[in-house]
Amino acid sequence: MSISDVRVGEGFDVHRFEVEPSGSRRLVLGGCVFDGEPALIGHSDADVPAHAIADALLSAGGLGDLGSHFPDTDPRWEGADSLAILAEVSAMVRADGWSIGNASVALVCERPRIAPRRAEMESNLSTAVGAPVSLTGRRAEGLGAIGRVEGI
Ligand code: MG
Repeated sequence: MSISDVRVGEGFDVHRFEVEPSGSRRLVLGGCVFDGEPALIGHSDADVPAHAIADALLSAGGLGDLGSHFPDTDPRWEGADSLAILAEVSAMVRADGWSIGNASVALVCERPRIAPRRAEMESNLSTAVGAPVSLTGRRAEGLGAIGRVEGI
């Protein structure tokens, strides 16, 4: 293996919190449901870390971006389990001849508290990717839209 055989991809995602709770959505992060927390708006389950990792994997593989494969206009992905999308993306990357070494994601939000569920989220995401995933939590310290708790 030469250094040119190693690629690193970067992904990003953001979703807005529901202002008026619809009652039909739940907050899902890294495959964990956070009961009693405001839900994120999205076509799928709006699992931000799963989307960011999927985007990073596609980017590393030169395989486009998440929206090109899972468009938010496609009713097939309405309310979709994003861990299943992440597993499918991981399979696409492998089918193109790559292996996945690891992934790392930073979750930036004022709420919910990440630490109590971090291990569970890492486990869910690692299973979906088929490689170790590390997740870290960060607060925006009250600054900007994330700091105003408008989204994650
Ligand atoms: Mg997204």
